[in-house]
Amino acid sequence: MSKIAIIGSGVTGLIAGIGLRQQGHDVTIYSALSAEDWLTKVPPTGTACRFASSLDLERELGVNHWEDSTPIHGIHLTFSPKLGRQLIDLMGRFDRMALAIDVRAQSHRWTHDFEALGGKVIIGNVDIPQLEEIAAEADLTLVAAGKAAIGQLFEVDEDRSVYDKAQRNLTMFVFRNVRMDRRQDGIPFVHGIKFNFFATEGEQFSIPYWHKDGYQCWNALFEARPGGAFDKFGDCDTGEKVLARVKELFKQHIPWDYDWIKDAELADEKGWLRGSVRPCVKKPVGTLPSGAKVMALGDTANTMDPIGGQGANNCYRQIRVLLEAVKANPKGDFGEDWMTATFDTYFERIGKATNAFNNLLLEKITPAAQRVLIAQYGSDGKAETASVQQSIANAFCNNFDDPNLLTTQLQDEAAALAYVNEISGGKAARVDLGNKLKIAKGQIRQVLGLPRSDHPLARRSA
Ligand SMILES: Cc1cc2nc3c(=O)[nH]c(=O)nc-3n(C[C@H](O)[C@H](O)[C@H](O)COP(=O)(O)OP(=O)(O)OC[C@H]3O[C@@H](n4cnc5c(N)ncnc54)[C@H](O)[C@@H]3O)c2cc1C
Repeated sequence: MSKIAIIGSGVTGLIAGIGLRQQGHDVTIYSALSAEDWLTKVPPTGTACRFASSLDLERELGVNHWEDSTPIHGIHLTFSPKLGRQLIDLMGRFDRMALAIDVRAQSHRWTHDFEALGGKVIIGNVDIPQLEEIAAEADLTLVAAGKAAIGQLFEVDEDRSVYDKAQRNLTMFVFRNVRMDRRQDGIPFVHGIKFNFFATEGEQFSIPYWHKDGYQCWNALFEARPGGAFDKFGDCDTGEKVLARVKELFKQHIPWDYDWIKDAELADEKGWLRGSVRPCVKKPVGTLPSGAKVMALGDTANTMDPIGGQGANNCYRQIRVLLEAVKANPKGDFGEDWMTATFDTYFERIGKATNAFNNLLLEKITPAAQRVLIAQYGSDGKAETASVQQSIANAFCNNFDDPNLLTTQLQDEAAALAYVNEISGGKAARVDLGNKLKIAKGQIRQVLGLPRSDHPLARRSA
């Protein structure tokens, strides 16, 4: 049995802590927030929609308390090359459901779960001198402090990082009094994620959400390109002001979803966030002034823009590798080499693809992604639909759960062509041409002010 210290009680600290405790280690979590504080003092860290493989880890650890709360079955994406011009819809289903549970409810509940397993929780903000004391007593010290200042202990790995600054200005808001069931909008299942992509301005997405106070609502986000049409929240210092601005932006730029959101109310006073995130990968080993080594985990090790809903999922991916590596090391020799090797395993296995997929969404659409998007045109998301289009749309959705599935095909044109040929029995060229014609027809109808095309979703969202 090893003595393991964890800084932070977000999803990373607690899922890791519970997993390590279940392996029989002596685990202490040092947290700035108590279980009650999570419910009363803070906004959620993020939307934190988690996909099937992450939920599997919760199930394996027996902490999946929210299975039936708000199962999410797929994504409806609308791609607009510019404001006011919907070009392509995608309606895909996940093979297995996703869930977006308020992380405040989870950290509250999991803190108690962790203590019930015999884990210790010490409340207080850890500074570097205290971290020295903690690390001196522990065999392994994990810093799972999210994006907090203590994470500066870990150097950015420039070889694995692409950006030197944040790419979007973010505004998140949690709201209710808006219908959960969007089937009348053409989404063929009760709970679906809605993505509105605007190539020039940024993105807006809305995710069915289970609120900490125990009800279904929505958690949504504007991802504004700096200086663009969505970058309008700079003067909003309350959630009410954020929501008022949200409604203005929907009315002006996303009219197809305005009726749906116009009566929205803020779910709770703290249910909103503004900020930005520099996407980066850190070196996993931090050296304290004494020379002691500590290891970064979760957001502290790898921070992502929320555009692809990958951050929390990525935390779980790191934790899965960590739990395997600790188990495989019964002598408890958790030195610098072990920390680096553990993180490298995560990065090679899935971290590299995760960062690539997420960063791809921040950039101008690649020719490869265009091909895939065009090839799926006409997907309707129905369970019984077994078309080429539907298979591709579903694969796109499943790539959020496992970015190793389709990221290469979204990056590389030859891989995209080979993929569409494989799915369509060698008919990629015909699929491409046929769908381009349908898309062009839809564009002409929009220019003429007519309802949009013969697309199964477009008729309802025009
Ligand atoms: C707007 C937005 C939307 C998002 N949407 C998604 C999504 O849909 N899907 C997804 O997978 N991810 C999403 N994310 C990312 C996701 O929320 C994070 O990746 C995840 O919550 C990080 O968890 P964590 O435990 O690593 O860090 P945190 O949740 O930040 O927890 C860190 C904890 O450490 C504590 N702490 C910090 N410093 C100290 C200290 N010195 N001493 C003691 N305690 C300390 C803090 O109080 C905090 O409780 C989103 C993020 C944002 C901003």
